[in-house]
Amino acid sequence: MNAPESLPLDLPAFDNSFASLPETFYTRLAPQPLPDPYVVAISEEVAELLGLPPELLASPQFAELFAGNRLLPGSAPLAAVYSGHQFGVWAGQLGDGRAHLLGGLRNDQGHWEIQLKGAGRTPYSRGADGRAVLRSSIREFLCSEAMAGLGVPTTRALCVIGADYPVRREEIETAAVVTRVAPGFVRFGSFEHWASRDRPQELQQLADYVIDTFRPECRDAANPYEALLRDVSRRTGELMAHWMAVGFMHGVMNTDNMSILGLTLDYGPFGFMEAFDAGHICNHSDHQGRYTYRNQPHVAQWNLYCLAEAFLPLIKRPKQTRDAIDETYGEAFENAFERHMRAKLGLRAGTDDDEAFIGETFGFLQQHRPDFTLFFRALSKLPGEAVGAPADAPLRDLFVDRAACDAWLAHWRARLAQTPWNDAERQAAMRAANPKYVLRNWLAEQAIRKAKAGDFSEVRRLLACLRQPYDEQPEYEDYAALPPDWASGLEVSCSS
Ligand code: AMP
Ligand code: MG
Repeated sequence: MNAPESLPLDLPAFDNSFASLPETFYTRLAPQPLPDPYVVAISEEVAELLGLPPELLASPQFAELFAGNRLLPGSAPLAAVYSGHQFGVWAGQLGDGRAHLLGGLRNDQGHWEIQLKGAGRTPYSRGADGRAVLRSSIREFLCSEAMAGLGVPTTRALCVIGADYPVRREEIETAAVVTRVAPGFVRFGSFEHWASRDRPQELQQLADYVIDTFRPECRDAANPYEALLRDVSRRTGELMAHWMAVGFMHGVMNTDNMSILGLTLDYGPFGFMEAFDAGHICNHSDHQGRYTYRNQPHVAQWNLYCLAEAFLPLIKRPKQTRDAIDETYGEAFENAFERHMRAKLGLRAGTDDDEAFIGETFGFLQQHRPDFTLFFRALSKLPGEAVGAPADAPLRDLFVDRAACDAWLAHWRARLAQTPWNDAERQAAMRAANPKYVLRNWLAEQAIRKAKAGDFSEVRRLLACLRQPYDEQPEYEDYAALPPDWASGLEVSCSS
């Protein structure tokens, strides 16, 4: 096929701010076309964020554009270089091995960059094929939008485009391209890259780019680079708290998958907590259990220390650099985590004993392993006063050991009584903090199986449900169920 041509379209001014950096930061190259691309799913919410004309979504050009076969006007496609620590070990140069940053646009909703993932090889592909398969693209698409629906900071996804083009993984699968949308895709590893090569000038250029483009307020600080590091640290702490609160497990928290903007980035072998186990490993390739649910906040801090080391040539003072993490991360995480947990538990205001009660609650969940999402949703239905077992049935039914459930409930009610709140208001607030619907692996798998057979309706239906995960939506009740037996052996692992 020929190289992509730009398509004349009436779009908001499109440019590539990352391309304003010197060419050492990336390689300019066009996406590689896919034969006969078709639309698998579109997030209309993201199309609206970008201000895409509605008629484009229905036109045959849409699939051509987001397969990388045609270019949006003003595109300056490029693949960026970065490095990183993978599973705790320095991995050297990585980079966008299968991502093309097309450019971005600024509108009244913010600054949005558009990236195609799976549109062919780049100089950073390291021998791999530059492609993504339908299965992993649907997972990334759905989870990006599910996390946005949950209110968790994340990169977004505009669409999945498929093609009957074979891609070899463990078996032959078909290719797909997912279009990711975010204010920016700069990673911790983007900084580590230049620090590891002892290139302070590029390090500073990158930091200046991030500050000027995303965090202009850092300019006013005595040391803008220290202010940026503190900002990343604080946002990362808040992000970890949010992940823990919704039971999200990223699965591959390598420093190249950590966003400098505090967004959830790079959806691969992620999972949502089902039967509670703080030691759950969602990534089949994570043999050591480095990225378990309970380890996530510690790993994020470890990753921040890697970033801090990269920032040292900019901040220059070792203590100040370390303090930028130590004085921000723990506090940001703990405050946000307590805030989320209070909301989940229906606690109107804090008391000094909340940390202990939250700890007791996690111990109780660990011992009895109810489904994490159903537990908190069911709790949101319960009366604040003990009125007998039938009223508590939604929660008690999740336990084999009902007496243990009753004992915990008695503690919960005693705690509620310390900061009284009428039931109706509390229950509504709890429903707004405890999603009914999360992207369980079995739901994604069910949609993927149908999609592989050419039926995309389940992907679209799931997307529609996950848009409003805190609403009852009785028409999607089937998505709130415990995993069926066939799902017990599902495994997901790294790059696909
Ligand atoms: P990930 O584990 O998906 O975060 O990827 C780690 C690195 O491998 C990144 O540099 C990716 O761009 C690269 N990579 C993963 N899968 C592929 C692929 N199929 N083709 C080219 N590069 C890839
Ligand atoms: Mg990655």
